[in-house]
Amino acid sequence: MLKTLAGYEALAEQAHSHLCAGQILGLRMALYGVKLLGLEDPAGADRKRLVAFIEIDRCATDAIPIVTGCRLGKRALKFRDFGKVAATFGDLKENRAVRLVARDSSKQRARELYPEIENKNQQQMRTYRKLPDEELFDAQWVRVSVGPEDLPGYKSAPVHCAQCGEGINFKREVVRDGRVLCRACAGERYYEAL
Ligand SMILES: [Zn+2]
Ligand SMILES: [Zn+2]
Repeated sequence: MLKTLAGYEALAEQAHSHLCAGQILGLRMALYGVKLLGLEDPAGADRKRLVAFIEIDRCATDAIPIVTGCRLGKRALKFRDFGKVAATFGDLKENRAVRLVARDSSKQRARELYPEIENKNQQQMRTYRKLPDEELFDAQWVRVSVGPEDLPGYKSAPVHCAQCGEGINFKREVVRDGRVLCRACAGERYYEAL
């Protein structure tokens, strides 16, 4: 069952090692997402239905699994590094998804609402607790194509890269000139061997 915001804040503080405005924004974002999808027990009875795509790696990101139960290691949390305070919540059962973007205007609203609070983090924490969902986020229904290889429970034997020999799971291999390669050997390597 869903907890109160205060209940989630306590869990977020533990998981993230501090409570900050980003945590509260992330909790509110996840709560709004599951509300729009009509899920009442995202981390319990509905846990196999939900997938979250998060577009930034910042404080708010850590709050998403607290509400949704979606975790990277469970394959239910997907990171798309777009540098935006935005996330898409998808219900696999109903096959629908909603994308939420944090509105830039809420920082301005924080200054208007609590001019007496000097600490920006405190000012924003209060504001993110108080503002209605519609003022904090823009929401848009979207379609997300998620293949079976992207979902929890997908099983297949790993294939091996023709160049480096490392095993590749979940169909992440690419074919170049007839050779099966890992993404690193196909040119997406993010590291250099020393
Ligand atoms: Zn933080
Ligand atoms: Zn390789």
